[in-house]
Amino acid sequence: MAASVTSTSASQVRIVARIRPVLDSENDTDVVVSVSPKANSVSMPNPKNEKEKFTFPFHAVYGMESDQAQIFAEVSPTLKHLFKGNDVTIFAYGVTGSGKTHTMKGNKAAAERGIIPRLLTAIYRRGKDLEKKSDGRVTMSAIMSYYEIYNDKVFDLFEAPEKRTLAGLPLREQNGKTHVVGLMEKEISTLKEFEMLYDKANSNRSTSATRLNAHSSRSHAIICVRVEIHDQQTGETKVGTVSCIDLAGSEDNRRTANDKERMVESASINKSLFVLSQCVEAMSKKQSRIPYRESKMTRILSLGQNNGMTVMILNLAPTKKFHQDTLSALNFANRAKTIEVKNDPPPVYHPPVAPKIGAVSGAPVRAFGMA
Ligand code: ADP
Ligand code: MG
Repeated sequence: MAASVTSTSASQVRIVARIRPVLDSENDTDVVVSVSPKANSVSMPNPKNEKEKFTFPFHAVYGMESDQAQIFAEVSPTLKHLFKGNDVTIFAYGVTGSGKTHTMKGNKAAAERGIIPRLLTAIYRRGKDLEKKSDGRVTMSAIMSYYEIYNDKVFDLFEAPEKRTLAGLPLREQNGKTHVVGLMEKEISTLKEFEMLYDKANSNRSTSATRLNAHSSRSHAIICVRVEIHDQQTGETKVGTVSCIDLAGSEDNRRTANDKERMVESASINKSLFVLSQCVEAMSKKQSRIPYRESKMTRILSLGQNNGMTVMILNLAPTKKFHQDTLSALNFANRAKTIEVKNDPPPVYHPPVAPKIGAVSGAPVRAFGMA
């Protein structure tokens, strides 16, 4: 059995799942998530009735043994779209501890580098190639910005944490586009320069989280690289932006939160993730109205506007401790996608409610965080 994409090229949305391995540091070694890479599906028992099994199809699934190079190979085909002047957006969604930062940023060792540093390497390589092949007629510039959205406020990660104003940066509409007023943009000429700025901004992120008595897992970190391709001969410039988003943890903090501040945080995370799922669903189903204006993050990203390509990576932790949150995450992805299953589908749980169009299997859709 193979799951097939309804129409990748037209829908421009891919939703893939990645399951991280059980960590040495984990006491809980009870694995509840299983994958079928052949069927592109993820299965898990119902936490409330272990005899019942839920199966969710994806465009692709990556099991515990998958490495950073394989995950990058999943997103690298978007580069040609970027260089044609289209926008590319890559999200990492999942509960805190499921591997979002590992997937996006990774570690310094060459094999452990995540999507973001690998993308930058590939962008520079492609830019150099273009320049060489055109004898210097075509040149590339890359301009980077990096910010986080915490409690619906935008903070520049290039700015030193002590310089932050608590109100965050304002937004302004110009020519139908939303701009973050005062957000720093840095032209980066070399990979080394990128690494330096990226490391500094990441350390700003953790320092400011500590100052706010918060945790970086409760903010969305958004890195944008605008790639401009100039053709000196024709005077033409193509502009495409790649945005990589390490989303706030999708766990329902309202179950455990007992102070007001955490409740406010949770409400704002839930709202922005909910709008994101609605946007991805609308894009997947090729609806003409994408509700990207309903949240700050999707509005700044202009999600789905500029012939965009979107890849959503659903990060999953395999063990029992995460069972309920993993089910919520799978439900989130399930409502956001349109994937058909071909041939003989395996026995799956059929929800007592009518399945959504395109969602052929899986648990009843429950909006995450909404009891
Ligand atoms: P998140 O950002 O979703 O909170 P992290 O990326 O910080 O989660 O991952 C949690 C822990 O699991 C980290 O220690 C990280 O190094 C480890 N980890 C995550 N994914 C993998 C993976 N694919 N292989 C090995 N370790 C991983
Ligand atoms: Mg993280």
